[in-house]
Amino acid sequence: MGQGPYAAYRIPFTDFNMHDTGVHSSEIHEQGNKVMADAHLAEAYRSSTLRLFTHRLQAISEVPGFERLRDRARAIKCEVIEHLDYYLEQFADNVERRGVKVHWATTAEEACAVVRQIAEQAGAREVVKAKSMVGEEIELNQALEAAGIRPVESDLGEFIIQLAGERPAHIVAPAIHMTRRDVSELFVKHIHSERTEVPERLTAIARRTLREMFAKAGMGLSGANFLVAETGTVVLVENEGNIRFSTTAPRVHVTLVGIEKLIPRFADLGVFLRLLGRSGTGQKLTSYTSLLTGPRHAGEDGPEEMHVVLVDNGRIKTLADPKMREVLYCIRCGACLNTCPVYRKIGGHAYGWVYSGPIGALITPQFVGLQQARELPFASSLCGACREVCPVRINIPDLLLHLRSEAQEEVPLPRPKGSPVRERTSMRLWAWVMNRPRVYALGSRLARWGQWIIARKGWIRRIPFYPASRWTDRRDLPALAPQAFRTLWKELHDGDE
Ligand code: SF4
Repeated sequence: MGQGPYAAYRIPFTDFNMHDTGVHSSEIHEQGNKVMADAHLAEAYRSSTLRLFTHRLQAISEVPGFERLRDRARAIKCEVIEHLDYYLEQFADNVERRGVKVHWATTAEEACAVVRQIAEQAGAREVVKAKSMVGEEIELNQALEAAGIRPVESDLGEFIIQLAGERPAHIVAPAIHMTRRDVSELFVKHIHSERTEVPERLTAIARRTLREMFAKAGMGLSGANFLVAETGTVVLVENEGNIRFSTTAPRVHVTLVGIEKLIPRFADLGVFLRLLGRSGTGQKLTSYTSLLTGPRHAGEDGPEEMHVVLVDNGRIKTLADPKMREVLYCIRCGACLNTCPVYRKIGGHAYGWVYSGPIGALITPQFVGLQQARELPFASSLCGACREVCPVRINIPDLLLHLRSEAQEEVPLPRPKGSPVRERTSMRLWAWVMNRPRVYALGSRLARWGQWIIARKGWIRRIPFYPASRWTDRRDLPALAPQAFRTLWKELHDGDE
């Protein structure tokens, strides 16, 4: 490239940070506490997830029959997962007929080796990457770097976290935890850009910097949102246009994708496209939807060579478990993260691996083993909000409970010492009261009367005794309502049959 507008900033490759590898789920409490103690970080998570959550609500309210769409999507995913072998074969046959080379990878190492070999055969020293969670999962960047090949993330969020040397903090919005100021600081430090906090300026800086890469990279790599078995089509959705560039500009393109991303028919695509954008970001449709149907033919744009790498890496094992195979329905929309009260508080990095939030708590133990991710199924209040928003109706709370009992059997914890004795006694007392409606009613009347000592303006800021004090250590507790629900119910329905 010459001295055109796109030559303004250069990516100093030597300045890229590789994030730490491995699974750190056992540190979820420490990492979560750090986020909650950091007002800046806590606000970034709170405001971003609230925005996505609100946009989703607005978007789905405009679609008549949204619940029926969810039912249809679940039925389609159920069909495909129950007959995964059939649909995988159908997809592979059809996509090969279109001139695409199909590769099968059982493990992360195998998948990395396949991509590395393709890059080496293509003579690519740089690989421009569109967002790929499977790439994160198999630690592809580390593998490419080790082979002397430079991976450059082209999705804005991924580019930011690549500069920061971090893992994605969210399935859909990898840099959700960063404010404009954080991004500005990163750009100044790593690509020596001007200092600005104007979003449009920051985006323009990233665009100018990355534009050069699309022209220069010998290979492009993307994930896939859906694979259509009937037609052998790879479907990608995005908002930035970087996927279009990554999949068309370089001479060679690789799609790296988990085997669960299949849908049976082209006609099914409409169901998922209507759900995905609305559930994830509250958009009717993302800005770009790309359908890849093979390498270019004479007179067309696109790569000369196209490969699809179908990755297992724990998915077949999950499929073999009749209870847990439901997690393979996931279309990675991120809605369960945005609605989860735990994710909103502790953020994505606390989950200690690539996938976070409720779906991360389910799939991480599948992919890395319960031994390494034992804490994750317990990182949930089981409120059911995730199940309410999931476009394919995965029964997340139910599966979390199932994993909890598996965790207790497979990796039992030593009996707790010290204060948990008081906790156990409190729980026994609670269970005793809950089994005696009259005692419960009397207790709640007394608590309602006695709370005036600690409640102010409808909130209890601090409860002085354990274990309730742990609740108010970090959050306020709403005071008991002036009237019990039972009393209200009785009043409302007085005279009903
Ligand atoms: S579990 Fe459901 S809500 Fe969560 S990311 Fe997957 S599809 Fe979206």
